Amino acid sequence: MSAASGLPRALADILADTGLEVEAPETRRIFTNRDLAFEQIAVIGFDMDYTLAVYNQAELEALSIESTIAKLIERGYPKSLQRLSADPSFAVRGLMVDKKLGNIIKMDRHGYVGRAFHGRRKLPRSERKNLYRAQRLGRERARFAQVDTLFALPEVTVYAEVIERIDHEPESFRDAPPSYAEAFEAVRASIDEAHRDGSIKDRIKADLDRYFVVDPKLGATLHKFRAAGKRLFLLTNSFYPYTDAVLSRLLPKTERYGCWRDYFDWIIVGSMKPGFFTEQRPFQELTVEGEYVGAPVHEPERGKIYEGGNQSGLQVALGVHADQVLYVGDHIYGDIVRSKKSSGWRTALIVEDLEHDLEVQRARRYVLEEIESLTRLRIKLTDEITAHRYLASVLARRTTGDLVEAGVDPSRANAMLEDARAQIRRRFDWLRKYEAETADTLERRIDEINAAFNPYWGSVFTARHNASQFGAQVELYACLYTSRVTNFRYVSPVKYFHSPAHWLPHWKRIDSL
Ligand code: IMP
Ligand code: MG
Repeated sequence: MSAASGLPRALADILADTGLEVEAPETRRIFTNRDLAFEQIAVIGFDMDYTLAVYNQAELEALSIESTIAKLIERGYPKSLQRLSADPSFAVRGLMVDKKLGNIIKMDRHGYVGRAFHGRRKLPRSERKNLYRAQRLGRERARFAQVDTLFALPEVTVYAEVIERIDHEPESFRDAPPSYAEAFEAVRASIDEAHRDGSIKDRIKADLDRYFVVDPKLGATLHKFRAAGKRLFLLTNSFYPYTDAVLSRLLPKTERYGCWRDYFDWIIVGSMKPGFFTEQRPFQELTVEGEYVGAPVHEPERGKIYEGGNQSGLQVALGVHADQVLYVGDHIYGDIVRSKKSSGWRTALIVEDLEHDLEVQRARRYVLEEIESLTRLRIKLTDEITAHRYLASVLARRTTGDLVEAGVDPSRANAMLEDARAQIRRRFDWLRKYEAETADTLERRIDEINAAFNPYWGSVFTARHNASQFGAQVELYACLYTSRVTNFRYVSPVKYFHSPAHWLPHWKRIDSL
């Protein structure tokens, strides 16, 4: 409950801009994995694409698909790919591509593959189980590619369609059809080229309002941090001309800020994350027009623009301890895992999918409750079935002689044994029937909720009764996570983010004290 929760919403919203804490709408909350005292954070860094800059995903995906396919066709891939109609649900964050087999899979936190598609065809359970035995995938890293940013979703969509062509229309390739692995490399190279040669960026720059969701609260959110004495930096892999075009649109001039650059104390573009965190490239200063100026340096200066660079040089320039820096990004590996492992910075992950996830949870609360209680019931029933099966097998081995030996009247021993066996069988049959009905209802409820999350993959964050591989990475590496940067405007700059208690199984009792 925030201090401003008794105020009318409109007033509370105005006060939020001045640093007061306001209760956020449910889907805009910030979640905590690791305790974090916001007051101790002296510097906040931001990634640009999909972090400060929210893309209109449908438009960007259509553009990426079109540009990638044009490049594939140049390489002799089937022209029919041009007719590919994007299915926005099919590719989601956190999937893995099995390049060797042409499959797209979703794993849980232990590497168990719970869902898999070959191209666009869902693999039946038996085939999936045959191909993927739990926890064996880690050893073959090169075989798998993780889909870890929203930029990579079109890659999955296009790859799945190419697999369909390889399997069903091999003659439509100019040359011999590629192997599944070659096809993935070709898709990867084509989208990479489309990002780098202007096929994508020139079109975005020419029509910014089409490709971005302009959030009018972005400037106010950054100002709120600055007003609380925090210093800010920009650390993006985008190069200067693109960064300048995008942020000029998203952070327009205000009375206080003459241009977007004024929000940031340090600006680093073309940073080549994740290499930025592990390598030692120098910082190359740029003019505001984007021209190189002077020789490369080891440490960036405040108020200047640099290309390249490295984390240790930036850390020295920031002049604070690594744990007083919060870095906000959307790329689970490049921004969060890598920076957490090698920089010691605190991390906040922007994960847009969270809003949909929370919305579904809210709308289907009763279904979720039902799933929970049906799951508990099913566990009890299967435990009891196992116990009865064991009891029946023990009874089957007993003879009337055993009973007589134990003092039972010989004239009653046989009837007693038969009665007991029949009783156990009746109970066993009833339990089995009840369990089957429960399992059936449970299955239907789970299908229903999964379809609401995503008809192909279920929730991005979960896999059956566990965290998905992506969900586990979020939990392990992101100190905080939320759906958009502007959600920070609801929290006070002195907030203490408390992580949930995470007890070992044998401490459950203490938890409930
Ligand atoms: P950031 O998220 O601000 O660090 O920037 C991401 C940048 O990487 C954007 O400029 C994207 O266009 C670019 N990008 C994303 N995917 C690819 C790729 O596959 N190849 C080259 N650049 C990419
Ligand atoms: Mg990004």
